[in-house]
Amino acid sequence: MAVYTFNDMRNHIGHRIVCVGYGDKRYTDHGELANVSVKCETCGVVLFDLNQGDHYEKFLCIDNPIKNLYPDGVCPDCSKEIPDDVSDGDSCSNCGHVFHEPRPDDK
Ligand SMILES: [Zn+2]
Ligand SMILES: [Zn+2]
Repeated sequence: MAVYTFNDMRNHIGHRIVCVGYGDKRYTDHGELANVSVKCETCGVVLFDLNQGDHYEKFLCIDNPIKNLYPDGVCPDCSKEIPDDVSDGDSCSNCGHVFHEPRPDDK
């Protein structure tokens, strides 16, 4: 996968984008559809792809899973950037906001 940022995607504005499926015997016994890719034909690169069984969430966890829960990676109370090594239960060094994974009873 080659697109992670706004600027990565911006490079392909106006290009010819196609969505293609691959049957790959590495992934299945029968060569059935195993991978779907969104490609830029102009550049010849895959912008985004998923293999059978993939969930998009896994690609969001490229840095810290706790930090990724917060929009823009900042503290929701004071907007200070959350450290990359934050772990569940750590608190903001600026305002004391506790960072944690969503609890089932939060709703
Ligand atoms: Zn392109
Ligand atoms: Zn804070």
